[in-house]
Amino acid sequence: MPSLPLARHGREYLAIPGPSVMPDAVLQAMHRAAPNIYAGALIDLAASLVPDLKRVARTDGHVAMYIGNGHAAWEAALANTLAPGDAVLVPATGRFGHGWADMADGLGIDTHILDFGKRAPWDMDQIADALRADADHRIKAVLAVHVDTSTSVRNDVAALRTLLDAVGHPALLMVDCIASLGCDPFEMDAWGVDVMVAGCQKGLMVPPGMCFVFFNDKAQAARAALPRVSRYWDWEPRANPEEFFMYWNGTAPTHHLYGLRAALDMIHAEGLENVWARHALLARAIWAACDTWAGQGPLELNVSDTAHRSTAVTALRIGAPHGTALRDWVEHNLGLTLGIGLGMAPPGDPAWHGFFRLGHMGHVNGHMIMGLLGGIQAGLTALDIPHAPGGLDAAAGVIAKG
Ligand SMILES: *Cc1c(COP(=O)(O)O)cnc(C)c1O
Repeated sequence: MPSLPLARHGREYLAIPGPSVMPDAVLQAMHRAAPNIYAGALIDLAASLVPDLKRVARTDGHVAMYIGNGHAAWEAALANTLAPGDAVLVPATGRFGHGWADMADGLGIDTHILDFGKRAPWDMDQIADALRADADHRIKAVLAVHVDTSTSVRNDVAALRTLLDAVGHPALLMVDCIASLGCDPFEMDAWGVDVMVAGCQKGLMVPPGMCFVFFNDKAQAARAALPRVSRYWDWEPRANPEEFFMYWNGTAPTHHLYGLRAALDMIHAEGLENVWARHALLARAIWAACDTWAGQGPLELNVSDTAHRSTAVTALRIGAPHGTALRDWVEHNLGLTLGIGLGMAPPGDPAWHGFFRLGHMGHVNGHMIMGLLGGIQAGLTALDIPHAPGGLDAAAGVIAKG
């Protein structure tokens, strides 16, 4: 007698916005005995990651690697650029903007949040007003989340640089690309970004555990002007190590380095611009299905304007209790796990059950996205959640056209 529903046995699919699906090549590269961390192949392997990470970030600047998750990268970026009492401006379009602001607050930084809600991108006029009001330049940095994973809002980082220059404000432009790197187009140098933070477990397709802070010479000058920098978070020895252990301030994340090497090889073999185009195509298929279903019933894309939608993650509204019911149904019956709605309603509030998210970052292709959408349609049908027909046809049509 099967212990699980009939259609459950088989390969599970974790379609949450991080950690993302890990390629077999990454898993196989990590499946090995512990390597020597003092000499041998690992030393050259670590050095080889640096230029390939910079290629993904589109920068000729510097990169520091850390053992840590995205929150660690937030703290590292702040610890190298700001002192307690310095002010920062945080234009927030979801929970992750607030999260980075909270991290700054905890370091004694004077944090000013411009809250643009949960469905809209930055309002450039309001940011301009805040920068102009800061005539004596107390604001030392703008903390900007490119793609807020909780809302799937994608913000226009290049326009924010243009705005800073137009206002003549010298604040550092610091950008969180934890969700977007390797998925949504991002150009660190061309867009004038001073500091960029990323993690390894989203577009970079490696298990959680490493993060990266990219920085340019302007940010390096801000670090040099600080009275002191945390020994652990200091990006200087990590970016310019005289000895191997200085990359990590201790033991290297040995197996992650092999996994990341494999992942970067995959990204550069495909070509970064092709990776972006693949994410865009698959996202358009998801939007086509969801927009079609939304023709009847409660389902709704959180972000209405496609120009402000991420191609790495999609946040959906479906009304309580359908969000949780749908997630539970597809997980239990199909082995397909969808993301929870994050920060859309307070935990404990029944409204919390009215949201879900789809992760489509990294190692995903057309048949996986069609499977993801097919699973959702099966769940909508099984649960009698009203929806217009034709969602899968719409998605297949997008993919067929390429
Ligand atoms: C995932 C994510 C984070 C947090 O990363 P953790 O690894 O969970 O600490 C921060 N910002 C964005 C935009 C993210 O997507």
